[in-house]
Amino acid sequence: MKLHNFNSGPSVLPQTVMEQASQAILDFNGTGLSILEIGHRTTHFQAVLDEAIASVKQLMDLGDDHDVLFLHGGATTQFMQVPMNLLDDQATAAYHINGIWGKKAATEAALFGKVTIVADSADRQNTYIQKEFSIPEAASYLHITSNNTVEGTQWHQFPETSVPLVADMSSDIFCRPANYNRFAFIYAGAQKNMGAAGVNMVVVRKDVLGKVNRRIPTIMDYQKHIAAGSLMNTPPVFAVYVSMLTLRWIIQEGGLPEMEKRNQAKANLLYQTIDSLPLFTPTVAKEDRSLMNAVFFLNDPALEPVFLDECKKEGMIGVKGYRTVGGIRVSMYNALDQSSVEAICSLMQDFARRKG
Ligand code: PMP
Repeated sequence: MKLHNFNSGPSVLPQTVMEQASQAILDFNGTGLSILEIGHRTTHFQAVLDEAIASVKQLMDLGDDHDVLFLHGGATTQFMQVPMNLLDDQATAAYHINGIWGKKAATEAALFGKVTIVADSADRQNTYIQKEFSIPEAASYLHITSNNTVEGTQWHQFPETSVPLVADMSSDIFCRPANYNRFAFIYAGAQKNMGAAGVNMVVVRKDVLGKVNRRIPTIMDYQKHIAAGSLMNTPPVFAVYVSMLTLRWIIQEGGLPEMEKRNQAKANLLYQTIDSLPLFTPTVAKEDRSLMNAVFFLNDPALEPVFLDECKKEGMIGVKGYRTVGGIRVSMYNALDQSSVEAICSLMQDFARRKG
């Protein structure tokens, strides 16, 4: 049976990436060694890192002001590392919150300085993105979560700010073109649109660094990572390699405009199906619906386990909503084929015919 992987992360990756990664475990580029046993300071790994960094710069059309790093840990590490490097004890950071991940990021920042919550969509169960808000003029930065993985909302137009703009793009990185040069700082855990878990991609505009007074542990210091060319210590070699392969795949497929075209087509199909079937209730404001994670509910909660059971029987993986939100969540990352969305839409139509 063909499986449809709607996991929210780690999630579906391109088949060709998995084939190449498997081959590299056995014999990396004809070296006779596995990618798991080559040294990270070899020309072989340097070429992997160089290509990964160059691909990010190419895809995001980044200028010389920005550097790209591949660092250990998940996005949760960045919740702490960003304020450690950018927020002084007595300074204020602005956080725009639309769900669980933004809230966690703000909680970590409060350990390092003052935090002002400029917007919080908890008043409507995080089903929308607040566009009207004001940022304290002296704020060191504004932090946003570009896509709310759990709640199913996404920024479709990034806010204009006079303060540096920082974004957690973990769950929609490389899903569409945008003016990425506008951001002072972008971070993303790799395990959704970019590769395997264990590595973070960081894009940083150099001028925001070196301004805090605190002493920063070496491994947490972005400036030191930049100076070391993202090779301060042993990086997660295999995870960086899988990211490099996925980035290469994105470029070969046509880059971010092509990813956006595919993501838009998949999301349109799914949301149109939800909207056309009264059995299913979308809760997210239409204009803020995520291209990556669609969250919706069944009108009759008793039917939810029945629907989930049918999904399981049809080989549809990962459609149960996040534990704090409930309902259904269908994640449609870059590598998810249109045919998987078509499959769940026909199941929904069939289910509605039988139970509606
Ligand atoms: N931010 C967002 C938007 C996420 O979706 C996630 C994980 N799903 C995280 C942060 C946390 O990432 P990690 O588990 O890699 O620390």
